[in-house]
Amino acid sequence: MGHAYSYCCDHCGFTESFNQGHGFLVHSQPVSEYLKQRTRIFHYKTHDLLRKMAKTSENLHLKAGFQVYKCPHCKTLYDKIEVTVFENEEAVHKSEFRCRDCKARLKLTNIHRLKRAICPRCRQRTFHRDYAQHELFP
Ligand SMILES: [Zn+2]
Ligand SMILES: [Zn+2]
Repeated sequence: MGHAYSYCCDHCGFTESFNQGHGFLVHSQPVSEYLKQRTRIFHYKTHDLLRKMAKTSENLHLKAGFQVYKCPHCKTLYDKIEVTVFENEEAVHKSEFRCRDCKARLKLTNIHRLKRAICPRCRQRTFHRDYAQHELFP
């Protein structure tokens, strides 16, 4: 089960929600099962990598879930699908993401404890959690 955390800016009114957790299509599974699906769920680079890895190994398993990341430089929040690939229980690949503005490597953040953040639109520190809009997704 996943959570959608809503944020709202007091200054410019911008709203955005961030997903954290597992979803219907985003969950742990063998890589072979993921590749059997017709839809590409993960980032195309991850998807291509999984296809390549599956050609050389049959014992691949992946863990996937939505995670919330923060740019250490401009503090923008992102939700991304983090994918970790295991080969015989050893992690052989883990997703990495970069900020679309400053290209810094994003860091995982604990959104559950994040009450305030920088608004991605007006850049003020008035982007706050909207507790009334909190939702769960299956
Ligand atoms: Zn704003
Ligand atoms: Zn940034």
